[in-house]
Amino acid sequence: MTASLAHIPIWRSDETLYSWAAGFHTTFGNNSARDTGARLFGAEHASKERDAPTNLHHFVTATRGELGDVTSILLSRSPISLFIPFLPRERQKVFADRTRELDGSGWRVLCGMPASRLGDSTALHYCDACVEEDMKTWGLPRWRLPHQLAGAWVCIDHRLPLRTVIAKGWNWTLPPVASVMDDRPSPDLKQAESLSRMAALALSLVGAAPLEIGAIRQAVLIGLRDHGVTKWTHPIDKLQLATWFAQSPIANWMRSSKGPWQRLASGFWIHDLLRNRVGDHPLKWMLLWSTLFADEDEVASHRRFTSPGSAPYWDASGQGTIWGASSVTVPPDIQRVITEAATLEEAASSLGLTVFSLRRRLAELGTSARVFRLGSSLEHRRSRAMAAIGDYIAEHPTCSRADIHRDCKAAVSWIRANDPNLFAQAVWLIDDKQSRQLQLLSDPAF
Ligand SMILES: [Zn+2]
Repeated sequence: MTASLAHIPIWRSDETLYSWAAGFHTTFGNNSARDTGARLFGAEHASKERDAPTNLHHFVTATRGELGDVTSILLSRSPISLFIPFLPRERQKVFADRTRELDGSGWRVLCGMPASRLGDSTALHYCDACVEEDMKTWGLPRWRLPHQLAGAWVCIDHRLPLRTVIAKGWNWTLPPVASVMDDRPSPDLKQAESLSRMAALALSLVGAAPLEIGAIRQAVLIGLRDHGVTKWTHPIDKLQLATWFAQSPIANWMRSSKGPWQRLASGFWIHDLLRNRVGDHPLKWMLLWSTLFADEDEVASHRRFTSPGSAPYWDASGQGTIWGASSVTVPPDIQRVITEAATLEEAASSLGLTVFSLRRRLAELGTSARVFRLGSSLEHRRSRAMAAIGDYIAEHPTCSRADIHRDCKAAVSWIRANDPNLFAQAVWLIDDKQSRQLQLLSDPAF
């Protein structure tokens, strides 16, 4: 039977489970990391599982549930919390089942973290300024959760680059109190801005509901075209995507820093990420999102990440459109080619595409080829008819409505059949002139 602890220290603000255990070990431990591991987690080597020891049920019993249950600890006290929203539906279920079972695979494995090779389980991160404050508040430093998340390289509170401790042995360690020389290059202004956005995005995903990776992917594809990173006329180009990303402030910073994420700076992973049907490492999605939408309001952009289908999308010029409204993302010249062509085959061949890829691209933009041609050809024909009438009026300033009916027969009959109200708009200039003439004629002075 698991013995519960005589005294259960409370969480120190947003510290991690490992931080709590290391603090407990420092204060109440008898100098043996193994004893503390066995006492808290029923495993002598528990200190090595820094994200969350396998037997969390033991911990919940030992702490009499006063620090939360297995699920709440994983969702709010462990860097794993960032991975859970990215798990596909089936894995979410496996994860939920595992929180009820006393034994099973480790939490990191369950979240696919080791396979990614992007995280370093021996690395722990802290901020100098935070440690200084912690010493004043508690007399003991903490490992803060926001600092241990994938994608967090700066402290959001102090805008300082995080420092790293590699803790390889079986031990419960806390951040060093005496600051050491910092010889790392500090980020420039733009890099600092990007790093801060990333850290905030990571934190906003802690404890979030399962993410719709498919919708995020779709939003990214549209965003890439909106921002002119990829061209609508060509297949998504691996090199083009990589070049764009490699020039971003965050990629520049990653190149100069040390860590397993360094290899992402080249941007060559983006193409695969967008093509794969399954999800990938959270870090990749976060990097892509925060770089692509760096100009958007931070809070709105992060909200859209967790709910890309429902949140309003504010584009760079501030015009709110509902995300998924597609035809606006097709450049006007391409739109014209598609709608003016007699068939989709003809459109595809003048764009240098196969019909299959044209269809697929329109589908990516959330529309079918038929609907797109129907919708935009209506709009196109409408504006063509309006322009024909407008040109005629400009050339014949004194014309009457009858003249327009006679000389712009095709345009008029199309407008009357498809959009009767529009006709009034097209001829409002005439109406204006005629009513003025009527007024003049009826003036008794003449
Ligand atoms: Zn800090």
